[in-house]
Amino acid sequence: MARRPALALIAHDAMKDEMVDFVRAHVARFLHCDLYATGTTGGRIQEALPELSVHRFKSGPLGGDQQIGAMIAENRLDGLVFFIDPLSPLPHDVDVKALTRLAVVYDIPMALNRRTAEYLIKAGLCDGSPVAGSAP
Ligand code: PGA
Repeated sequence: MARRPALALIAHDAMKDEMVDFVRAHVARFLHCDLYATGTTGGRIQEALPELSVHRFKSGPLGGDQQIGAMIAENRLDGLVFFIDPLSPLPHDVDVKALTRLAVVYDIPMALNRRTAEYLIKAGLCDGSPVAGSAP
């Protein structure tokens, strides 16, 4: 059964403006995806771009990263854009590591910075093509 591509968006606090800017730049594409985000990131995107529908999980430090990791383990996620802040220590560093590790284990396209995210978009992430799998 085919379904719409599912994409997760996460940005650490110092990177949230960048994430909103990135999503705004490609909003026409993102209309064709099912979007998932950690709580605060999703709230910022939703506020800036009300035309998008973003499923918001818990905030990252409260388990949101792990909820997105569970989607990967259940083969329900097709891409991850995770703008990490490389300059600040985070209380949930272990969750970040666990999530990026799962993305590698399951061979999920993952962008950790803007330039790579732009490459993924150019490569067809969220171009409207359905993907194989069951509906989330
Ligand atoms: P947030 O979580 O979107 O709720 O801020 C992101 C994170 O820090 O992992």
